[in-house]
Amino acid sequence: MDLEIGGFEVKGGEKRSLGLRVSIEADGTPLEIPVLAAAGRGEGPIICVDACHHGDEYEGAEAVLRLWEGLEPGELNGAFLGVPVVNPPAFLAGTRGNLRDFDTGHLDANRVYPGRDGCITERLVKAYFEGVVKKSDRVISFHGGGNRWLVGPIAIYQPEGSKTHAESLSMAKAFGVRLLCPTPAGLEGTLLHATAEEGIPAIAAEIGGHCDRYSNRGSYVGVGVEGVRNVMRRLGILEGPARETDHVFLEARYIHCANGGLFSPKAKVGDRVEEGDELGLIENPWTGEVIESIRAPFGGIVWLVMCYPLANPGDWVFGLGREIAEPR
Ligand SMILES: [Zn+2]
Repeated sequence: MDLEIGGFEVKGGEKRSLGLRVSIEADGTPLEIPVLAAAGRGEGPIICVDACHHGDEYEGAEAVLRLWEGLEPGELNGAFLGVPVVNPPAFLAGTRGNLRDFDTGHLDANRVYPGRDGCITERLVKAYFEGVVKKSDRVISFHGGGNRWLVGPIAIYQPEGSKTHAESLSMAKAFGVRLLCPTPAGLEGTLLHATAEEGIPAIAAEIGGHCDRYSNRGSYVGVGVEGVRNVMRRLGILEGPARETDHVFLEARYIHCANGGLFSPKAKVGDRVEEGDELGLIENPWTGEVIESIRAPFGGIVWLVMCYPLANPGDWVFGLGREIAEPR
């Protein structure tokens, strides 16, 4: 099947790396979003796989590269669009957000969908949404802990009540990680919300983070690669049976600290905790006095931990999920 992306044509059976033009930088260089396209010989769904909405979440970018390298277009029924870096300025800066948004602070690229002709983050999101996402039948968006947190692996699906819920849940199950959760209700401006409005089933996959990269970077990248390949098998884009996995469904919440200081987590990602258990401590770095004990507000499974020793008031220090029997 033939594709047209950003004014470029990709013929059935071809692989091609493209640049989706967004703007021109102050030094005259083009600001482009990279797109790695593989168009199958056979007809089928177009799957878009992206990473680095947040510029310091590199595991997904690496997974997109490894996926693209391993695809033979002749074996695809459908097509693959890999976008390793949705937010190039944040990627270059090594930061979660883009430092150069005019007059607005750092906009979060995954809170400004569907984008607009405003600040640079909004322009990147609009260009990506219009130029790639809306041309796709399914979307998988990688996230992770970046430089401050360790997270998951956990797959997030479009919630009950959205028209794409059933298919999104099916993709999340096929992604093959144990922990699954719906996007929190009312969280607008995310890719998952915007794609649901467009009728495009999508999931997000949260994988890895800086504190574990030195030891386990390859295994996090591998979880991402295998997860996408299994979804592609379930959709029939790749041949072969999709692997089945057992799942735990969570209603995921963030736990914020009230105070800043030196933060020491006690709970680890994957731990099962009871209501009232101490998850971590914050101490005054001038005196050593413990100024906050962070306790579990309910029993559940820890899916995110802040690994950075400096906490500021209101930071996400943990993600905790309450187990739910039925997906919703
Ligand atoms: Zn992210």
